[in-house]
Amino acid sequence: MNTNVIIIGAGAAGLMCAISAGKRGRPVIILDHASKIGKKILVSGGGRCNFTNLNIQAENYISANPHFCKSALARFTPQDFIALVKKHRISYNEKEDGQMFCNGSSRHIVDMLLDECNSSGVEMRLNCEIKEITKNISFIVKTNSGAIESESLVVATGGLSYPNLGATDIGHHVAAQFGLRIIPPKPALVPFTFSRGDREKFGELSGVSLEAVVICGKHKFRGEMLFTHKGLSGPAILQASSYREDGEEILVNLLPGIDAHSIFPSNRQSKIEMKNMLSRYLPRRFAHTWCKFYLPSRPLCQYNDKELFDASHLLHEWIIKPAGTEGYRTAEVTAGGVDTDELSSKTMEAKKVQGLYFIGEVVDVTGHLGGYNLHWAWASGWAAGQYA
Ligand SMILES: Cc1cc2nc3c(=O)[nH]c(=O)nc-3n(C[C@H](O)[C@H](O)[C@H](O)COP(=O)(O)OP(=O)(O)OC[C@H]3O[C@@H](n4cnc5c(N)ncnc54)[C@H](O)[C@@H]3O)c2cc1C
Repeated sequence: MNTNVIIIGAGAAGLMCAISAGKRGRPVIILDHASKIGKKILVSGGGRCNFTNLNIQAENYISANPHFCKSALARFTPQDFIALVKKHRISYNEKEDGQMFCNGSSRHIVDMLLDECNSSGVEMRLNCEIKEITKNISFIVKTNSGAIESESLVVATGGLSYPNLGATDIGHHVAAQFGLRIIPPKPALVPFTFSRGDREKFGELSGVSLEAVVICGKHKFRGEMLFTHKGLSGPAILQASSYREDGEEILVNLLPGIDAHSIFPSNRQSKIEMKNMLSRYLPRRFAHTWCKFYLPSRPLCQYNDKELFDASHLLHEWIIKPAGTEGYRTAEVTAGGVDTDELSSKTMEAKKVQGLYFIGEVVDVTGHLGGYNLHWAWASGWAAGQYA
């Protein structure tokens, strides 16, 4: 069988690419080994799909080449996606920091994409196992349901995270087969695990959350930090995880916006116990546990100046050395992937293999939390669909 465009992967990027190419009148076939399309879209945003962010900028993406994403993001904007959402009468709202969510279910976004694919004449083959890919003049993709030949092959197979939703490393293998470099992948937007010692200390805080600034190298993220039974999670931690190298410490400012150096002196004569004083600013369970390990609690008037200075310092720069992360099982995305130096930022086509395209999370472009990853999938998919 012959077609113009084969897209492997019926996720966010693949579906958007199919719509974009289909609207140009290109015959398109999407292949996916899963039994249904858009599984990650369905679970995204806690089931309400944080589908884009009004503040999209290159600074919200991590890549060996931080400029690569600019072209695609400029040509398919949050407003372009919102126009599609409005056209399909899907109700949505803006949460904090420009994050756009469905009011109802993520299912509406998948249905919208399916509807657009259908009206663009896109053919979909699910439960389709890819057996072999070869290229002579055109590409030949051998599958469990026969071989298909095409001029263009778009790889939209995503990252390695959430293998239970169908993630595989096929995209990296296809890139390697055609001689394209890969930036080593790693789990990102992922909870940290505690060392054994820290788990014994803080495991009992599972479920406690607090507002903090989490600092990893030169990157700072303010937001919720959540104790889990294994370690730390919550938006501020997930954001920091995308930047952390193995073995690196993180710093946590437990009192953002408050100067701990000033709250102690003003209570200097007080008989209030340290752990109770801290409970005015921090969750009680946390304050009590923290004092147990870092600052034996006494009435405030019994501390000397140096002890109070050190305590203030520690509250603003609590050092944690995570043992690791929860890995791909719970990572929201995969950092790394196909090296952007191998691709055209305008078309997403491989520079040295005519007709071969890579889009979405399989590429070394990783967004911050907040709708940035789906937007990269839409924008890169749209860009490739204009040329494939
Ligand atoms: C729990 C969770 C919540 C998230 N929430 C958000 C959010 O709210 N906002 C946001 O911006 N981002 C969110 N993300 C990230 C976002 O979902 C992904 O970055 C985005 O879906 C990537 O799109 P993609 O098309 O590149 O890959 P995917 O959506 O992963 O699609 C890849 C497709 O390729 C198929 N495939 C894989 N291997 C093969 C193979 N061997 N053969 C055939 N087909 C194959 C898969 O079945 C899948 O359909 C979330 C991720 C997770 C896991």
